[in-house]
Amino acid sequence: ELPHLSIDDPQAKALSYVNESTKGGSNCNSCMLIEGDASAAWRPCKIFPGKLVNAKGWCSAYAPKP
Ligand code: SF4
Repeated sequence: ELPHLSIDDPQAKALSYVNESTKGGSNCNSCMLIEGDASAAWRPCKIFPGKLVNAKGWCSAYAPKP
């Protein structure tokens, strides 16, 4: 399994990534850039290759699924 994205990662910081969204339903699970198993707590993201993001997380690249 890929490593979890750290909030201290420079790219994570640049995009204000957090492990727990404070924006209601706007979170990684509802973002069109998320990948992988929809039931997983940590999932791949197109923006952060080689890392897993928290399904409940958020970053400023958030784009809602159509
Ligand atoms: Fe989460 Fe940001 Fe990746 Fe969307 S782009 S899945 S909000 S980390």
